[in-house]
Amino acid sequence: MPRAILWFRDDLRLEDNPALDAALRECDEIVPVYILDQRYLERDRWGLRRTGPYRLKFLLESLEGLDAALRERGSRLMVLKGVLEQELLRMAEMYQCRRLYASKAYTHEEIGVETSLSKAIDARFFHGSTLFNPEELPFVVAQLPDVFTQFRKRVERFVEVPEPLPTPDEVPGPELPKTDIPSVESLGQQMPPADERSVLKFRGGAEEGHARIRHYLWDTRSLSSYKESRNGLIGADYSSKFSPWLANGCLSSRSVYYEVEDYEAKVERNESTYWLKFELLWREYFRLVAMRYGRRIFFPGGIQDKAVGWKDNNKAFQDWCSGTTGDDFVDANMRELLFTGFMSNRGRQNVASYLVHQLKQDWRKGAAWFESLLVDYDVCSNYGNWMYAAGVGNDPRSRVFNTRKQASMYDGDGAYRRLWLEVGGKEPLLFRQQFL
Ligand SMILES: Cc1cc2nc3c(=O)[nH]c(=O)nc-3n(C[C@H](O)[C@H](O)[C@H](O)COP(=O)(O)OP(=O)(O)OC[C@H]3O[C@@H](n4cnc5c(N)ncnc54)[C@H](O)[C@@H]3O)c2cc1C
Repeated sequence: MPRAILWFRDDLRLEDNPALDAALRECDEIVPVYILDQRYLERDRWGLRRTGPYRLKFLLESLEGLDAALRERGSRLMVLKGVLEQELLRMAEMYQCRRLYASKAYTHEEIGVETSLSKAIDARFFHGSTLFNPEELPFVVAQLPDVFTQFRKRVERFVEVPEPLPTPDEVPGPELPKTDIPSVESLGQQMPPADERSVLKFRGGAEEGHARIRHYLWDTRSLSSYKESRNGLIGADYSSKFSPWLANGCLSSRSVYYEVEDYEAKVERNESTYWLKFELLWREYFRLVAMRYGRRIFFPGGIQDKAVGWKDNNKAFQDWCSGTTGDDFVDANMRELLFTGFMSNRGRQNVASYLVHQLKQDWRKGAAWFESLLVDYDVCSNYGNWMYAAGVGNDPRSRVFNTRKQASMYDGDGAYRRLWLEVGGKEPLLFRQQFL
């Protein structure tokens, strides 16, 4: 049986990893590799870093966690920097690997990489980031319902979430040299100092992800009141904060789903416990939207390819990024993002609506700013939600948020706005110049 490259992507875990599971079943020896691809470290067409410091730090910590877990099992993670395809094929040749195993991606650029690799090596891809196996859905992806509720009802009724795969005890392979995992600084960026106001001190890695599950479910039982608290703005426990670990694949959505089921069996089952699973279905839905619509999720007119007339006002966009628009609720949220790399779901909906409907800017610029800063950036969830907010996604209705009304509903006493606009006194423009 052959030796194989196991290429880690957004699946930085050993538990419930179908590519790893298949490689272990089908091959004798495994060479685990992660490539820091130059493409994702560069600036985009709007001059923004594609991977800013918050996300980069979380990613590097996740790689350290994965390397430690592999070392406990007799292997190690080779971390290299360069052009993905070239580095992977170089490794395959160096270690005489005839196959490559990896999780599948669902977006245009990443599928392009898969296609070109498949031409050069026996490459096998697995669904490592979805809840369901897309082949087992009660419809073909090309007929994915355009309305989320229809999708949800059909999958809830007809499809089982597969149980997570176990973590292997051993990962056999050849002797591998130690490769250093770089720091944020060695990759040319400067890490902003930790902000005390941050909802959480996010740290990458599967262990940290499981610690967060333990905290949110078992230690504090916050899950039991998720539905009531999830529109909160301040603090660690108004929502699960699982997103950065899910985005990097330190946690699988199946593991989270089954932890919730376990909680329902042992503690309680209520609307809140159901609602967390409901949100995982949104995540799943946006993956399927990407599968169905391909490059169209990046079109200015979205998957509908709608005629749009975005204005190109750079000053308005820069003010939005820096949290200096003059709308205090928008500014508070944008500063939270700028100073910490996180923003609540309520905040995201409001700032996205403001950029698109108030400032009339191309939604893709907003999505690119989120891509650069969000510690939990996930291409499908980000572009899917942005299209939705811009009225060019699945639901063509225009979702205009009245930010004043929203502020009085969700920040009635102004505590959130004071926290980000008055306390701490960081100057957003200087901060951007220094760190972004
Ligand atoms: C404009 C915009 C951009 C967004 N960009 C991203 C992104 O890049 N990455 C990302 O993970 N989420 C994104 N979201 C969705 C959502 O805001 C975050 O998933 C959520 O705030 C993360 O916090 P949490 O883990 O505490 O979520 P919880 O409320 O605890 O939800 C649990 C999990 O369900 C999933 N989820 C919840 N809401 C959504 C949703 N609307 N769409 C898809 N998945 C969801 C996430 O994986 C989340 O971790 C975006 C939303 C908007 C409006």
